[in-house]
Parts: sequence; structure tokens; C-alpha cells
Amino acid sequence: MPRKVADCRLFPSEKNCSLTIAGTEDEVLAVAVRHAVEEHGHEDTPELREQIQSMLKNE
Ligand SMILES: [Zn+2]
Repeated sequence: MPRKVADCRLFPSEKNCSLTIAGTEDEVLAVAVRHAVEEHGHEDTPELREQIQSMLKNE
């Protein structure tokens, strides 16, 4: 199964976060949303999930 990558450097952030999350799309989305909420103070909204989903890249 192809893995997806979410690179936190691509997200607008003032933290200079360099985290990269890789896995299946569902896994990456779940972890990336949690990370965005807990580490970056975002709210868990459908818009946030959409934004993250749109930034996923194939590994
Ligand atoms: Zn981050």
C-alpha cells in the first residue's frame, strides 16, 4: 500500500516544526490532526482535516 507523507514544514506555523508523518492516508490524517491540535493549537474542524488532506504527498 502506498504511504502518504504529511510534512509539517509545509504548514503555516510559527513553531518551525520539522515533523514528518508517514503512513496510510487514514493514519497520517489522524496523527496529523492530533498533532496540529495539540502542538499547534489548531481546532479540530472539517476545514483543518481538508487542509491537511490537501497537503499529503505520496512517499
Ligand atoms: Zn508540527
